[in-house]
Formats: sequence, structure tokens, C-alpha cells
Amino acid sequence: MPQVLDQQSVQTRNLIGGDWVGAASGEEFDILDPATDEIIARVPRCGRSETRDAIDAAAKAFPEWSRTTAQERGKLLRRLYELMMRDQDRLAELMTREQGKPLAEAKGEVAYGASFLEWAADEGRRMYGETIPANFPDKRILVLRQPVGVTACITPWNFPIAMITRKLGPALACGNTMVVKPAEDTPLSAIAVAELAVEAGFPPGVFNIVTGNPKEIGEELFANPAVRKISFTGSTEVGKMLIKQSAQNVTRLSLELGGHAPFIVFDDADVDAAVKGAIASKYRNMGQTCICANRFYVQDGVYDAFASKLADEVNRMKVGRGLEDGVQVGPLINDAAVEKVEKHVADATSKGGRVRTGGERISVDGLADRFYAPTVIDDFTPEMLINTEETFGPVAPLRRFAKEEEAIAWANDSIYGLASYFYTRDASRIMRVAEALEYGIIGANDGGPSTAQAPFGGIKQSGYGREGGKYVMDEYTEIKYVSWQL
Ligand code: ADP
Repeated sequence: MPQVLDQQSVQTRNLIGGDWVGAASGEEFDILDPATDEIIARVPRCGRSETRDAIDAAAKAFPEWSRTTAQERGKLLRRLYELMMRDQDRLAELMTREQGKPLAEAKGEVAYGASFLEWAADEGRRMYGETIPANFPDKRILVLRQPVGVTACITPWNFPIAMITRKLGPALACGNTMVVKPAEDTPLSAIAVAELAVEAGFPPGVFNIVTGNPKEIGEELFANPAVRKISFTGSTEVGKMLIKQSAQNVTRLSLELGGHAPFIVFDDADVDAAVKGAIASKYRNMGQTCICANRFYVQDGVYDAFASKLADEVNRMKVGRGLEDGVQVGPLINDAAVEKVEKHVADATSKGGRVRTGGERISVDGLADRFYAPTVIDDFTPEMLINTEETFGPVAPLRRFAKEEEAIAWANDSIYGLASYFYTRDASRIMRVAEALEYGIIGANDGGPSTAQAPFGGIKQSGYGREGGKYVMDEYTEIKYVSWQL
């Protein structure tokens, strides 16, 4: 198969201690374009020894980096933000090649990803400590906030840049160093950001990147006592394994795991706004986001209007290769992803669900068989897989409800608690429902709640810890109490 991306112009190696390196074994693995199946690059298949090198490099860089001022660190983070925005088009194209998402969304992600660095550049200056009145006249109580040390992150393929920068920005802003392990499907965008970090002037070892065998890399990250904190975004299944591994060294963890977001439309909603929010929430990234609406509960009075307007909009969506103009729905990430969507739809129809639109793969001239039609299904029921498992595809299952309490009970009937959405024009209902929903993120008349300045994270089996806003700084700092006898 042809080598599509020129190895000379696209960096594919790993960044360890400021050097661009391959795996010690020389092994590499292929990166495919999910739309065409072409091999677009090969990246190092690293394992434990390279991960140890990266941790050593991060540990070596830490003392000096942690002593720099927040202003100095902020300057570098802002510079990286600016370089990402300078190269927004290039990074977006690279992302679409390896991930499949429409180019406009990839551009949006580069800007969104960069915004975490810009936010962290400023927020790092507010790593405030405290003094507390003591209970003896000759004592003082000081609370210091210090960086934790060497940190690491393990990230997924659905947002190849933003899932890294939302961890990297605050980690570095607080004076930590980091080892980044991007997802196997999408390491090129991550490596491109590492390349820009070198251009921005980050000292060697502050930001390291290792690609390769997830199990081996993960084992070293958790076994190595130099690593003080790991932040993971990915599946609940892998997250649970990492919790067990974290017991070895009691490594601090933040986990942003699976979601199964309910989307409630009340009779008093602005139906057009609800449809717009549903499209944004459900079909962005082909339905492959952890905060995607997965279950729609629509009240009797607006069910028919909402369902038909949603289906009309969905029918108008252009499916195709992400690089093409106007495409809104690209390929799913891999064959397993398409098969899961097919399984969920087949299960739903076998149990009485009715496909209003979509419901099948779409073949797009000459491209890989990985495109799934944006789909709307009526009358989904609790017995269906789609009610309990994340579909991670462009499928909106709808269910009617009569009463507010019923919708809230159904919405909360999940092991997950990441994002939820509801549409209503009633102000007191907004507060009541927001308080009743057992989710970490709530879109009240809003299908796109993610932003750098707000806390992002889940409850129940969606994980713990928060990213974004001032809250993420807690994840990357230690609180130290000094009891001072005068
Ligand atoms: P997804 O369903 O999004 O692919 P995963 O949880 O499988 O979610 O993957 C998220 C990240 O976790 C990826 O970077 C992947 O390589 C990594 N990962 C998968 N298995 C392990 C493991 N055993 N140890 C450490 N990281 C892992």
C-alpha cells in the first residue's frame, strides 16, 4: 500500500527528553486513514523500556521546571497555543486523515484543544495557597500548593488533540512534567503537538510522548514510583483495570470514562432548538464522543414534531470523506465500531424499534466500507442494548414519556453519569431537573456544553476527577500543610 504522508514532512517518532526517537527494537505500527484504508504513516511501537526512559527524562526535567515562575510557564503555554492556531489547517488535515472526522470539526477541535493551553497559561498564576488562623498565639498555619511531580496521561482516539491538551495544559502550568501516551489509532496529531511544543521552547523532558503497546506502556507508568499522577480518558472497562493497577504505588488517578447521555425534550421546549442541540450532541464526530446523546426521551405533546424535524435534518446530512467540502458525517474509526452500531440497530429492530431514517451502512464511491447512515429509531425500550450500552455511533433512539418524574427516572437508570441534556422553557423546571439528574455535566437547552473554563467529568462509573476551569488545578497539585511554631 502507498505511503501517503511524506515521512520527511510529518514527524512520526517519539519525543523523549527532547530527542526524537524510535522504538529500541526498531518496530513500528501502521496508521490507517479510516476513510480509505491507506497506510498514511508508521510510528514507533514502544514498550516498557522507552516508557521508563520517558519517565526518567520527565523526572530529570522536573526540579528545574517546577522552580520556574507561573508567568514563565504561562508564556510557553501561550506560545504553544499560538503555534497550534497558526498551524490550525495543517493539524486539522492530519487529524481528519488519521481519525476520519469532517475537516470543519477537526479545525474546531484544534481551536478547542488549543484553548485549554490558553486557559491553563493564565490559570497557573492562580495556584493560591492559604493561611488559616491557628489555635495558639505562637503558631501559624500555612497551606501550600505544589506540583505533584512526574505526571502521565493516556488518551483516546475520538479527540486526538483536545484530550491531551486538557491534561497537558494544567499539568505543565502547575509545574509538573508529563509523559503522554496517545491512542494507537491517532498518534500523528499528538506527535504534531509535541513538535510544536519543541518549537515553542519547552525544555527537554517537560513534555514527552510515547506511542506503542498500551498494556506495556501502562504497566510501566503504574509500576514506576516516579510517576505521581495519571490522567486517563477512555473506556470504563480499561479505566477499571487502571484503578487496580494504581494500587501498586497508590498513584493518583483522574478518570474520564464512558457515558450514556440521556437527552430529554419536554412539551414546553423550543422544538427547533432541541433538534439543533440533538444534531450537535448526537452526530458530532459521527456519534463517537463520550458526551454524545445516546437515549432520547421526548414528551407526548412534542414527540411527533421533534421526531420528524430531527429525521428531516438527519436526512440532509452529507456523508463522505472528512476532507471533502460540506461533509458532516465521516467514517467510523474502525470495523469494530461499525459492527457495534450494526449490532445495536439490529437488536433494537428485533425488539420492536422502528427505523425512521438510516439504519444501515452507506457505501461511498471507492472508499472503505466504514460509513454508517445517520439514524433515527422510534420506540426504543429498556430491553434493548442501546438502552444500556454506549453505541458510539450516529444513532438516535427515541422514546415517548408522559411525566417529568418518569423521564428523570429513566435518565438516571444507568451505571454512567457523565453528560445529560434537557430542553424546556420553564425556568423552575430547569433548576429542578438539573438538580435531579445524576450527571456531572448538564446541558440545559444546550447541546454543546464543553469548554475550557468549566469543570468536565462524571459520576458513578463515568469516573472521577474534573478537567477544565479552576477545578483541574486540584488534579495537578498537592496540598501541603505547614504548622509553624514561632
Ligand atoms: P476506546 O474505547 O476509546 O478505544 P480504550 O479505553 O480502549 O477506549 O482506549 C483509551 C486509551 O487507553 C488508549 O490510549 C488505549 O491505548 C489505552 N489503553 C487500552 N488498554 C490499555 C491498558 N491495558 N493499559 C493502559 N492503557 C490502555
